[in-house]
Amino acid sequence: SSFAESHLPDEVLECCKNFSKPSPIQSHAWPFLLDGRDFIGIAATGSGKTLAFGVPALMHILHNGKKKKEKKLNPLCLVLSPTRELAQQIADVLSDAGKTCGVKSVCLYGGTSKGPQISCLKSGVDIVIGTPGRLKDLMEMGVCCLKEVSFVVLDEADRMLDMGFEPEVRSILSQTCSVRQMVMFSATWPLSVHQLAQEFMDPNPVKV
Ligand code: AMP
Repeated sequence: SSFAESHLPDEVLECCKNFSKPSPIQSHAWPFLLDGRDFIGIAATGSGKTLAFGVPALMHILHNGKKKKEKKLNPLCLVLSPTRELAQQIADVLSDAGKTCGVKSVCLYGGTSKGPQISCLKSGVDIVIGTPGRLKDLMEMGVCCLKEVSFVVLDEADRMLDMGFEPEVRSILSQTCSVRQMVMFSATWPLSVHQLAQEFMDPNPVKV
């Protein structure tokens, strides 16, 4: 398939201008995610998975976000990542992809001071990319509100649970909007990940 077939607006496709065609995971994920379905991708890093969920996340914000004219923008999209490195990598891609369509991202991770992350949250963001520990911390401080988050991505879900983040992940998910679209990427499909999907996703997610 081609980028033209995706019928995405130019301002969103700008982030793909260096690519000749969508990667296989992007061709599989985009139609379902643009249709509002929950999606499980068993895919490794390097497959183009960031834009597989990133492009639909931008579309979700363009459709749902810009109607509200409030000054303080609560985020509409959340991406949870097990590690700071992955979170930063995702944030770099999404910040860049969001530039042409006016979508703002913030990356929240531990091991560094909270000040700049809080200032960025206060200025209003559309997408939060974060690691579970720091995100939960900022939520408890009352500086990060997820009640309007209606598009959630769990990246490397298996690794997130292996690292012991299950309680944080559950607590964070329970504070997002009850009507939400969910995307899960995982390299493997152990029972713990399966159970999390059963609990928090639609009964019939698309699995690729
Ligand atoms: P990811 O799996 O998201 O970490 O992406 C891995 C690499 O693939 C990154 O360097 C991306 O820039 C690149 N990439 C993403 N989408 C495409 C595409 N459609 N065609 C070629 N490369 C891509």
